[in-house]
Amino acid sequence: MFLKQLVMQAQIKHNYSLRQHHFMRTHAQADYFIRVDNMVDLVAALKYARRKKLAVYLLGAGSNTLLCGTIHGIVIQIALCGYQVTHSNGRWVWVTVQAGENWHQWVDLCLAHGWYGLENMAGIPGSIGAAPIQNIGAYGSELSDFCTSVQAIQLSNGHVVNIKASECEFSYRNSIFKSSHRHQYIITAISLRLHRLPHPQYHYPALRKALLHRPRHPRIIRNTVLRIRRSKLPHPQLEPNLGSFFHNPIISTVQYKQLRSRYPNIVAWPQADHFVKISAAWLLDQDGWKGYSHNGIQINARQPLVLINHYAEHSSAILHCAEQIRRSILERFNIHLSIEPACYGDA
Ligand SMILES: Cc1cc2nc3c(=O)[nH]c(=O)nc-3n(C[C@H](O)[C@H](O)[C@H](O)COP(=O)(O)OP(=O)(O)OC[C@H]3O[C@@H](n4cnc5c(N)ncnc54)[C@H](O)[C@@H]3O)c2cc1C
Repeated sequence: MFLKQLVMQAQIKHNYSLRQHHFMRTHAQADYFIRVDNMVDLVAALKYARRKKLAVYLLGAGSNTLLCGTIHGIVIQIALCGYQVTHSNGRWVWVTVQAGENWHQWVDLCLAHGWYGLENMAGIPGSIGAAPIQNIGAYGSELSDFCTSVQAIQLSNGHVVNIKASECEFSYRNSIFKSSHRHQYIITAISLRLHRLPHPQYHYPALRKALLHRPRHPRIIRNTVLRIRRSKLPHPQLEPNLGSFFHNPIISTVQYKQLRSRYPNIVAWPQADHFVKISAAWLLDQDGWKGYSHNGIQINARQPLVLINHYAEHSSAILHCAEQIRRSILERFNIHLSIEPACYGDA
């Protein structure tokens, strides 16, 4: 064990550049950094952090994290790989997949095995371990439709826990891991229940339209979703971005009715309990932000929720732009926009 500890310590990098570890590609560095691909190293890294009193920051692929300046503490990139079928019958298969696997590749692997359900979420960048954090979703499906439990290490005491999906409080782009229990767990694996027979979901309007007169097999849904995504979203490797920078805000029905009387074409979706979800893209478009460009940051002309980094060196330029947008939306619509990505660092 002592030898393993030494080997793990040798893998820890100091003053390490994180530019290539987040999709915005701005300058950022960590006091300490380690990429762990097995549980022994992960536990040893946590012990090291505790001994040195280092704050712990977790990173998957960095597609939903904005790293700013220096991160004081240790950044642990989770690269645990593999999966295991735990049970199956004629209708369902139960499978557990490790946190470091790539989400999109996992969706493709499931399709190759004939395990269905995740196809609407093909093309979402990032790791399996980050998927429960904001309950990823797209084109009418969400992780919570399939997740049965989340395996994790509790940061405060190092205990390994199994958290049932019902305890994760999954909701629209949210879960306990992003709210009440933020920064309290390292997710090491997730368990899913998937269909053994095709179970196509195509109620999402853009998908339904694109699938008109086409067979609705999960593979076709997967390909169609990817085609729609490509037509709407800039490729993050070519135009650095974090996907949607803002959540769709949820407001009361009373406020919604007031807004609708002023803006009859407002785009919104009714929610439970007298709430309404408003399209943040519509708000930005209405407020004239589409295509706006300043200090190297551009608001995408097709999808205004996407902020592209053309040449900004520092994340402060992105945060400044986001703050301008938030203030403007608040003034005009009296709606608070919240930022979707996690932001770590001191810039
Ligand atoms: C072009 C583009 C399109 C996108 N489209 C969608 C979409 O359609 N739907 C959608 O929901 N999202 C979308 N996203 C957002 C993103 O893909 C997801 O949030 C994804 O789950 C992030 O995965 P990641 O591994 O990159 O997470 P990271 O950015 O590395 O981390 C995100 C958060 O999770 C935490 N975290 C990461 N791994 C762990 C772990 N193992 N344990 C505990 N905490 C952890 C981090 O600390 C951070 O707070 C998009 C992003 C981009 C760039």
